[in-house]
Amino acid sequence: MKVRASHCRRVIVLGILTATLSYLSTSAEATLRTVAIGTQQRVTNRPANPNGAVFVAEYHHIRSGKNDMFRSADNFRRDLEQFYAMGFRPVLASEYLANRINIPSGALPLVMTFDDAVPSQLQLTPTGQPTPDCAIGIWQDFARRHPDFPVRATLFVLPDSMWGPKRDVKRKIDLLKRLGCELENHTITHPKLKKLTDDKVMEELGKAEDRLASNGQSGPHSLALPYGISPKNANILKGFDWHGNRITFTGVFLVGANPAPSPNSPKFNRYRVPRIMAISGPYGIDFWLKKLSQGQVKPYVQP
Ligand SMILES: [Zn+2]
Repeated sequence: MKVRASHCRRVIVLGILTATLSYLSTSAEATLRTVAIGTQQRVTNRPANPNGAVFVAEYHHIRSGKNDMFRSADNFRRDLEQFYAMGFRPVLASEYLANRINIPSGALPLVMTFDDAVPSQLQLTPTGQPTPDCAIGIWQDFARRHPDFPVRATLFVLPDSMWGPKRDVKRKIDLLKRLGCELENHTITHPKLKKLTDDKVMEELGKAEDRLASNGQSGPHSLALPYGISPKNANILKGFDWHGNRITFTGVFLVGANPAPSPNSPKFNRYRVPRIMAISGPYGIDFWLKKLSQGQVKPYVQP
């Protein structure tokens, strides 16, 4: 009996020891796994801040040039790297305006806007792919390596430009649609709206809506004011009748020059949304990214 009892005790002790060791190793693994998953899921360790500022970047030409309308292809590539490393993830202007910001926890929303439908934003190879040096091609290449930074561009287009040769317009619009981009209103002739009569303002905006619709992009759209200049009668931006239809805008974007309020903030005014020009000078994107890294901007952080 003694032998059997001591054998039993040994078996029980061994059993407890094994169970304890196995519990310890399982719980340690679980802890490690949680940390690993946690690190993967949370893009930055910034605390949630759904009331913080939103960066709305504004691009024109993606090629070398002398003034603020140009951002070289290399600088655009560097911008994407920097946005990504700082925890930004792209959202459309329409998502920002509707307060439907769907990015991973800890990420900062970034609205990428492109004005004027100039050729360097989108060119196609003979097989219909974006060329490697146009904005969409550069971003697509980046997104292949960073699938959590997909091509989600908001393009404020001029219907008579549409990135160059007319023969490619349909293929380009189809491609943008497939990628999940959106086309929005930037008038027809890019006038200073302040200088026009109310009727002419409505014509610029209404005709641009018609052209977007004829390209398969039905509204309501957002609007980027040419030069950021409002019409004398700013009430037109809140809605007007156009050939029997009511035209309204989901939001109106300016040209400069600071981060935009969160859609949750009392300061949010959808008819005056500031943007940040993609320039290296004062109040441009480099300026504001530096402020952000120095803790002088409290950004929107996804909960
Ligand atoms: Zn413009």
